[in-house]
Amino acid sequence: MKVLFVYPRFARHAESHPELLTFVPMKEYLGSPSLAIAALVGCTPENVEIEYRDDRLANAAVPTDADLVALTFFTAAASRGLELADYFRSLGKKVVAGGIFPTMMPDEVQPHVDSVVVGEGEPVWEQVLADAAAGTLRPRYAPAPADVCTLKPPKLDVYFQAERGDFKPDDYPLQVSRGCPLRCDACALPTVMGKSARALPLDYILNVAAQITAGGRQACLTEDTGWLPGTAGARRLTELLEYLHAHGNPLRVSYIGISMPMILAAPARAFELARAAGVELFYLVGGFDPVTTRAFTGKDPRAYQRAVDAIKKSFDHGIEPYTSFLLGNDDDDEGTVDRMLDFANVSGIKKAEFAVFTPYPGTPAWTRLLAEDRILTREWRYYNDANVVFRPKQMTVEALHEGYIRLWREFYAARPESALRSEAERTIQF
Ligand code: SF4
Repeated sequence: MKVLFVYPRFARHAESHPELLTFVPMKEYLGSPSLAIAALVGCTPENVEIEYRDDRLANAAVPTDADLVALTFFTAAASRGLELADYFRSLGKKVVAGGIFPTMMPDEVQPHVDSVVVGEGEPVWEQVLADAAAGTLRPRYAPAPADVCTLKPPKLDVYFQAERGDFKPDDYPLQVSRGCPLRCDACALPTVMGKSARALPLDYILNVAAQITAGGRQACLTEDTGWLPGTAGARRLTELLEYLHAHGNPLRVSYIGISMPMILAAPARAFELARAAGVELFYLVGGFDPVTTRAFTGKDPRAYQRAVDAIKKSFDHGIEPYTSFLLGNDDDDEGTVDRMLDFANVSGIKKAEFAVFTPYPGTPAWTRLLAEDRILTREWRYYNDANVVFRPKQMTVEALHEGYIRLWREFYAARPESALRSEAERTIQF
């Protein structure tokens, strides 16, 4: 039996708006795929042949001799994912889809595929393969959340072998835990991964870390859940950082995800440990939490001051905050753009990205805006943080779009030194 895994392409900021390439004095960076396919490869039996196509690098819609095509995609890639599903089925192939979008919108995906996997794929993957081989593929698999203690580690080789030319990502994702007990308005993670934090075993994490190191890459810890006080994820992140420090930092970490309330709540020793473990960059996610949803509204000076304090605390500990601003929350108005730019100047942020608020399926925002009849399109290719897909509350669609473009343009116009940074530092995904 042979399986073809496909990672469908999606438009990023600069593909949606090519003028951004003239504003941002940095090299555009195409990042690694999500861990999903490597995770399934990790639990694919040895006797199953594997092929992998990254549709971002080359059109995946070409014939295959595989018996089963497995697609995994999030919302931004859903339009393309469904196109690819239709294509492979037109060739008579069996198609199974999983990942964030199929988990959140299985009924939308079902007509395009033979089978949808709702939730984490690993617990049911061997069953899917056996059913496909027997010709008894079920239309839907909805396994219980994975028992993280028995998970097989992902096999990153499948990605390393697909690198080519100038596609050689600096870093690959390293997961520390799954799930989150919070319920941020614009985040789908708790719905996709569950509402309790499940820490992955340290052996599992170190296995992935060793693969990343052997591949000569860095690890990016994209999720912010490692900083939620009192959770299993936070304990495991501490354990990992302690391990790295105690062993001479065998793994290079490109960045760790975090939010402003988490920076403010973290004890100084947590950041000292992160620095000792070689962490120099936070990916500071904004627009989801009570500080950044209020700080730039002009109505909450305390939230603004807390935001300033969070950036200062990060710099004070020697960790640069690569800050992600989200424009279009219901409390944002047209003045929010100037307030964000002023804040970035006052707080000394050197590197930032800007996103349009996007109500992804599976988020509380999606449910709310759907009920308020404010969703403007279900064309999923536009759900990529770079397009306005809903009716904003305090500004027009056009003003939100213009504000987003202006943030990119004016932030980097004020920082020409960004162009002088070393090649390694100048990469950014946009
Ligand atoms: S943004 Fe972070 S803290 Fe909020 S729900 Fe998502 S994972 Fe949890």
